[in-house]
Amino acid sequence: MRLSKMKAAVAPASSHGGAHHASAIAPEEALARLLAGNARFCAGKTIHPHQTLARRKSLSRAQAPHTIVVCCSDSRVPPELLFDQGLGDLFVVRVAGNVVDEAALGSIEYAAEHLGTRALLVLGHSKCGAVKATVDAWKKGAFPEGHVYRVASLILPAVSDARRLKGDLVANAVTANVRRVASGLRASRPVLAPRLSRGILKIYGAVYDLDTGRVSRLF
Ligand SMILES: [Zn+2]
Repeated sequence: MRLSKMKAAVAPASSHGGAHHASAIAPEEALARLLAGNARFCAGKTIHPHQTLARRKSLSRAQAPHTIVVCCSDSRVPPELLFDQGLGDLFVVRVAGNVVDEAALGSIEYAAEHLGTRALLVLGHSKCGAVKATVDAWKKGAFPEGHVYRVASLILPAVSDARRLKGDLVANAVTANVRRVASGLRASRPVLAPRLSRGILKIYGAVYDLDTGRVSRLF
């Protein structure tokens, strides 16, 4: 489905559908901005960029976020804060356990196709409650009540991967989950896979440590 109405409402005036945006920031540069921002965050030297009135006004007609971030809804993992970014910098998809369902995938595709965003980061975090709940569900052989079931069912394959690894099961499942989510996105057609093979889009994976504030890249 073409999101023509959404595009008209928020895409840059120069946007031209699925074409490559020549002005878009290269994925390597986007990643460098994230890592530099996280280094400031860890050191307690945040600069809170892009949060002025002028920035807000400049974004009212168009946006060109440099990175799509898929991360957990956990209140301790707000990407704009831990990467020291501002308005218009990140296109964020947050779901408990940083999993991607159809609606989340559509959101990612929108940013890649219509906003020209070229970097995609899947970010897990230590002590993730959604992952821990899924590990507990697997141990008990019973899923949580309500719609939490949907979240756990998407995380469960990563728990299965992690069982083959030595060490802490939850920590390993967090890492495995980032890898699985990224693999799913890499294979996703028709929007993401062709962009990845042409080098227009790059996927990165990382884990945020709640204790240190540091984001460590997995790939
Ligand atoms: Zn979490």
